[in-house]
Amino acid sequence: MNKTVLITGASRGIGAEIAKVFAQNGYTVLINFNKSQKEAEALLKLLKDNGCSAHIIKADVSKIDEAEHLVCECLKLVPQIDVLVNNAGVSLNAPFNDCDIQKGIEVINTNLIGTMAVTKYVSDNMIKHKKGKIINISSVWGICGASCEVYYSASKAGVIGFTKALSKELAPSGITVNAVAPGVIKTDMNNNLSKKDMQNLIDEIPVKRLGSSYEIAKTVFFLASSDADYITGQTINISGGFLI
Ligand code: NAP
Repeated sequence: MNKTVLITGASRGIGAEIAKVFAQNGYTVLINFNKSQKEAEALLKLLKDNGCSAHIIKADVSKIDEAEHLVCECLKLVPQIDVLVNNAGVSLNAPFNDCDIQKGIEVINTNLIGTMAVTKYVSDNMIKHKKGKIINISSVWGICGASCEVYYSASKAGVIGFTKALSKELAPSGITVNAVAPGVIKTDMNNNLSKKDMQNLIDEIPVKRLGSSYEIAKTVFFLASSDADYITGQTINISGGFLI
């Protein structure tokens, strides 16, 4: 039987690329989306046209009942979830004192609480089977903090703390928990940056280019493989030297 992976926020960007890499490697891919139904359906068609096994499931992971429903729906489709990738995320770029606090809470609810909620329901299933790999998508801003992205940075730092603590708790159950911290990756999330701001960012990256979703996906796939069985509680910084 195929191994299975649930990827949250896989309709677009990094999540969609992670779905492609796992599908190409023989996994049954459970693609969560929230608002981008058309993109999720297009990805599903692409994977199925290539002979891969995949399903799409709508859920807003920032809502705990929807996170639970997502996992229930997945477990109707597959008997167990081998790999969970908590990728769904939103950003909020503005000075802290100008941010509407409710908007800030939505960022925390999606990036941190959503990660915790989906993990809670999936890890129940993983503990039963005494195996599993959980990979959380954090950010370099969760390590060093970004001016004008305070809620985002706090949510991503929370993801790193969550990863460390949960890795200790789940290791005896045969489950590893790791995170990746991307630098600046070419996706819709950075569309708000002007050409000038983008060039300034690139100038600050030692390898002098943005990262690709594929580069993130390959590291996530490595962390899900048996080659990474002895790695847990870690956060891998993938930023072309932007943060060293
Ligand atoms: P993106 O292109 O904006 O895609 C975001 C994805 O998250 C979409 O598929 C979106 O789904 C999903 N999503 C957002 N809110 C959701 C919710 N409440 N429930 C379910 N899905 C939700 O962003 P990206 O760059 O691929 O980012 C993916 C992850 O990488 C995020 O966690 C982000 O913080 C992290 N990251 C990105 C960068 C970067 O430079 N791009 C750097 C560091 C970390 P719908 O459209 O269907 O709602």
